[in-house]
Amino acid sequence: MRYIEPHAHMVSRVTDDYERMAIAGCEAVCEPAFWAGFDRSSPAGFYDYFCQLTEHEPRRAARFGLRHFCWLCINPKESEDVKLAGEVIALIPKFLNRPNVLGIGEIGLNKNSRNELKVLEMQVDLAARHNQLILVHTPHLEDKLKGTRLILDVLKADKRIRPERVIIDHVEEHTVGLVLDAGHWAGMTLYPETKCTPARAVDILETYGNERLWLNSACDWGVSDPLAVPKTALEMKKRGHPAAAIDEVVFRNPKKFLGQCAKFKI
Ligand SMILES: [Zn+2]
Repeated sequence: MRYIEPHAHMVSRVTDDYERMAIAGCEAVCEPAFWAGFDRSSPAGFYDYFCQLTEHEPRRAARFGLRHFCWLCINPKESEDVKLAGEVIALIPKFLNRPNVLGIGEIGLNKNSRNELKVLEMQVDLAARHNQLILVHTPHLEDKLKGTRLILDVLKADKRIRPERVIIDHVEEHTVGLVLDAGHWAGMTLYPETKCTPARAVDILETYGNERLWLNSACDWGVSDPLAVPKTALEMKKRGHPAAAIDEVVFRNPKKFLGQCAKFKI
């Protein structure tokens, strides 16, 4: 089996995880910029993180034959301070030409606050000005539906944004239809027990079809599973999905979306 892990926070994972992913058939891993589990105190903290994502982490992955790509932004959990966000956003353009940078992400909303929305608009503008792909985080709280609607409105209001160049991640049963109807791609994040389990993800695929959908583990410093994508491929196999359909969801779909950035070559 071959697969792409399109959303994993490898800076938080041990080296053994890279080896296990490579053995399971992973051909590339993509790392959106996100919260580190604590708030950074200054733009310099983000500068160092962007260096880690574009210099150090690709070298660590390469030791296991894995290509490493990343996305850059200030994440929604640290977007409450609009002044700090503006300073971090100003750092990003000088990193955009680095060879493993795919676009702007994961931007989005966490608590659906006014300041988060303002920073989301600033980063959609950044992506539009630099013709970048966008990866969006949707809230995990009970207001996922409200947050998803707000995000879709921001994207629709910016006429420079082409829907097929945006992936909305962490969709669930009640948001996936909205995202696909707006012309975007949708990401299903797999969690070991809570939220979207492998079984629920395959239920969603059986309801909505395989087009413009991908699977990711979003593994980070919390309880998560870096092998969640191949485990879900196994769930598809057990339910009788043909090998070509599994390959479409776990390999060809992410390759198609990410391939819209010329730097994504595997
Ligand atoms: Zn993430």
